[in-house]
Amino acid sequence: APVAEAAAGAPFVRVEGVSKKFGTFLAVDDVSFDIARGEIFSLLGGSGCGKTTLLRMLAGFEEPTKGRIHIDGRDVTDVPPYERPVNMMFQSYALFPHMSVEKNIAYGLKHEPLSRGERADRVAEMLELVQLQDYGGRKPHQISGGQRQRVALARALARAPKLLLLDEPLAALDKKLREHTQFELMSIQEQTGVTFIVVTHDQEEAMTLSSRMAVMEKGRIRQIGTATDIYEYPQNRFVADFIGSINLFEGQVRAVSGGVAQVEVEELGQVSVTAEGEVAAGQPVTLALRPEKLSLSRTEPEAQNRVAGTVESLAYFGKDSLYRIRLASGRVVSANAPNARRGGEGQWVADWEDDVWLSFAPSSAILLVE
Ligand code: ATP
Repeated sequence: APVAEAAAGAPFVRVEGVSKKFGTFLAVDDVSFDIARGEIFSLLGGSGCGKTTLLRMLAGFEEPTKGRIHIDGRDVTDVPPYERPVNMMFQSYALFPHMSVEKNIAYGLKHEPLSRGERADRVAEMLELVQLQDYGGRKPHQISGGQRQRVALARALARAPKLLLLDEPLAALDKKLREHTQFELMSIQEQTGVTFIVVTHDQEEAMTLSSRMAVMEKGRIRQIGTATDIYEYPQNRFVADFIGSINLFEGQVRAVSGGVAQVEVEELGQVSVTAEGEVAAGQPVTLALRPEKLSLSRTEPEAQNRVAGTVESLAYFGKDSLYRIRLASGRVVSANAPNARRGGEGQWVADWEDDVWLSFAPSSAILLVE
């Protein structure tokens, strides 16, 4: 069947209705998704949502209670880890402290039928891939955290897996190094063409790295998509709230016409919102507004969707400031507004305790029915 599947354009990885129970606890609950060859696919979610368990089932360290896993056109559900075209890079890196960088990388090849020369060539190639040509003779304690991370990556890639599973690959690095290393990982993925599946709890990391991501909650996938899909078109309240910051309001649809819903929200009055999915009059909905989609002004705007408030606090972030605006109802809303250029008139749009207006376009709000 592998050939037929490939001919039909089968995905490179197919996870089909996979569940995992530990005793009576359902750690992974009926998860399905496809990954194309060459993707960097992230499993994103909070602690305990089942990301690592799912990764371990892909590696073969854990057996699904239900469902099938296909990799590269082959059903590997019952195939042991070492016979899968898969390797895993652990969060702890698991480098041998007494071995040199070279020996650590060569260890990844221990089961490969290679001559001495071939092995040395492969190690040299891997050192070059992660730009550690001059560090082969050092021990792990003689290199930096970022370099250790690259050694672990080189070792995991040495035997040329088709699929590399990375469990929180950047968690041990500080913020600055992590951002830099994200681009390095992407470049190495591109050079090797290996498909990556990355477990992370860091949404910015998932958004930067991934071609697509699955957002998980309590063992289930709540949405799969590109960074843009997930950020701009969250499908439910959980995803909207998990990714980025957002203001959520409870409301009820009054009427729908011409793709625009009139929504009654206690704190905002009646607002009009572009309705993408199916919404009907009378339906309870959640209105979601990203802070950067709100416009802030000192004078009353023309916009139909507008509400008055008072600046309760503001925080300067360089290119913009984050305002906390208290509405008449007492509800506090977050809004980002750009800062004036250096030397421009007035640094801020508004200052503490100023009376201001917030407004937004119908297409800037997200309507959630779940
Ligand atoms: P984290 O980011 O904290 O590592 P995670 O999303 O990777 O979280 P998992 O490690 O997959 O979460 O665990 C999912 C759930 O399954 C957790 O509630 C965990 O306690 C439970 N679990 C994991 N492994 C086992 C096991 N071997 N036996 C029993 N329960 C387990």
